[in-house]
Amino acid sequence: MSSESARKHTGKCYDCEGQLELVEFDVQKGTRIMVCQACGLYHLHKKDLFGGWKLLKVSKRLDTQ
Ligand SMILES: [Zn+2]
Repeated sequence: MSSESARKHTGKCYDCEGQLELVEFDVQKGTRIMVCQACGLYHLHKKDLFGGWKLLKVSKRLDTQ
């Protein structure tokens, strides 16, 4: 079971499993925001210590407050 999918800047929607598209990538903070092509749900990820991405927040609206 070895998948290379972790290298791609794509993913699946938390809610509907639609395709995600990268909208913002902050190298300094180590965060990225992706949006679902199907339902428009925003996904905020943060890079973890192991080089993977951890899902921090899922939101219908893009607000960083
Ligand atoms: Zn979706």
